[in-house]
Amino acid sequence: MKIGTVREIKAQEFRVGLTPGAAQEAVAHGHEVVVETGAGLGAGFADSDYTAAGAAIVADAKTVFETADMIVKVKEPQASERKMLREEQILFTYLHLAADEAQARDLMDSRATCIAYETVTARDGTLPLLAPMSEVAGRLAPQMGAWTLQKANGGRGVLLGGVPGVAPAKVVVIGGGVVGTNAARVAAGMGADVTVLDRSLPRLRYLDDVFGGTFRTAYSSKAETEALVAQADLVIGAVLIPGAAAPKLVTREMLKTMKPGAAIVDVAIDQGGCVETSCPTTHDNPIFEVEGVMHYCVANMPGAVARTATLALSNATQPFMLALADKGWERACAEDPHLAAGLNVHAGEITHAAVAEALDLPL
Ligand code: NAD
Repeated sequence: MKIGTVREIKAQEFRVGLTPGAAQEAVAHGHEVVVETGAGLGAGFADSDYTAAGAAIVADAKTVFETADMIVKVKEPQASERKMLREEQILFTYLHLAADEAQARDLMDSRATCIAYETVTARDGTLPLLAPMSEVAGRLAPQMGAWTLQKANGGRGVLLGGVPGVAPAKVVVIGGGVVGTNAARVAAGMGADVTVLDRSLPRLRYLDDVFGGTFRTAYSSKAETEALVAQADLVIGAVLIPGAAAPKLVTREMLKTMKPGAAIVDVAIDQGGCVETSCPTTHDNPIFEVEGVMHYCVANMPGAVARTATLALSNATQPFMLALADKGWERACAEDPHLAAGLNVHAGEITHAAVAEALDLPL
């Protein structure tokens, strides 16, 4: 099979769908790889890294779309890319179609086979191609929180780890899933005094078993949240209710009880945020102040660390990419129901029940 990747054209997107390492694996499996010139530059991969891996560099995205049997990307195809998709071509990337009818209709018109990273499943019901980005965002959250707490950024001038004789900052992580656990680990590693709130007792038990002594856990009731938020230097929002907007667990009233210059990093902002006063920001202008509390609400946090994020994503997508290339999508999906769960559009039809329902389109 001929596998292609292109330079991402969505604003502020520096990741790339195929790393040279993934290209090398595909070549070792007997496939051809075509890469648009400059596709990997944002993530620190030169064209020469791809040619060393056995890939061919081509001048533009058009050539990749014209020649590749499968396109591997990061973000959903933009309108100009959608026009280039062809029937019988496989598109393997994040799509997030449920909230994007224009894209869904273009993908249906293309008649291509579109497999979405975000709906590929794992045996335990988790989402293996979303998890790496949650790990990245979670580990980045205390770093951005520490930066937001700096005086020059409007923060209260508190160092997360304190120093000998000076207490560390109090960090409250709301939601103890993938983002929350990674955030809590890093914040605790930086020396902060960390508490994780979750409403799932099995999850709290797991966190206590594995991380007891590193950070504390608390049940996510309104009273507990109010008490912890009032004392916090940094609040990290990391809740998720699958398929729903994030619940507003920190209200404007609670902000009034917080210390002036305290910080909030609302990682759940891509689901609307779990703080009433959050609204999405960008890497160019990431923080704003409400009620004396600094908010960091970047919806695509992994973009800040495009190289790490690209490598993490590629590690997770590579086995699926190879299965699709080795077996063709029909056999690969027939043999692996978890990959099949990623199939969103095929031959002009929506093939994923939740996407069809969200868009009110026939299945
Ligand atoms: P996850 O499913 O692994 O974890 C979510 C946790 O929230 C679960 O443990 C769940 O029990 C808990 N939860 C649900 N309701 C709660 C409540 N009322 N109080 C406390 N905890 C509650 O999800 P995740 O992968 O950790 O993702 C968390 C959020 O981060 C999602 O909205 C995800 O889309 C977002 N995210 C954002 C970025 C970004 O760049 N901003 C990147 C990756 C993920």
